[in-house]
Amino acid sequence: MPQWFIRGLRRGIVTTRYPGHPDSSVSSLPSPPAFRSEALARPAHQRAAPRPFPPNPYGRGAAPSAATVADLLVAVCPSGALRRDGDTLVFDVGACTACGACRRAAPDAVVSSGEFELAATSRSALVKRIPMTAGAAA
Ligand code: SF4
Repeated sequence: MPQWFIRGLRRGIVTTRYPGHPDSSVSSLPSPPAFRSEALARPAHQRAAPRPFPPNPYGRGAAPSAATVADLLVAVCPSGALRRDGDTLVFDVGACTACGACRRAAPDAVVSSGEFELAATSRSALVKRIPMTAGAAA
């Protein structure tokens, strides 16, 4: 019998207790964004002050003329994970790299989802449609 098997029986589980007990470091890791519907249709200039971040060489620019917060998010996403479809923001979780550029650009409209269990049985299950509703400015 291989020695590693006997050693494993003696020591028990010495790595993570996932999924029963997720590791505490998970909360500090980047995760895909979650979007607040009521903030997406606001004029981009009414959003909360963007957080400073270094220029992203892969981004598509800061979109100073973006009409809405959703347009701004589409413009800053470097991986093309975001697009507009009428009054809907389409978010392709499968293309998102959790870079955080959208969250820094509009911190009142985007939060971290904290979601890591993203496995899906079909590609289309990874595409989320977020309605853009008009809400009052924060
Ligand atoms: S900007 Fe970054 S975090 Fe936001 S959707 Fe695009 S890839 Fe994901």
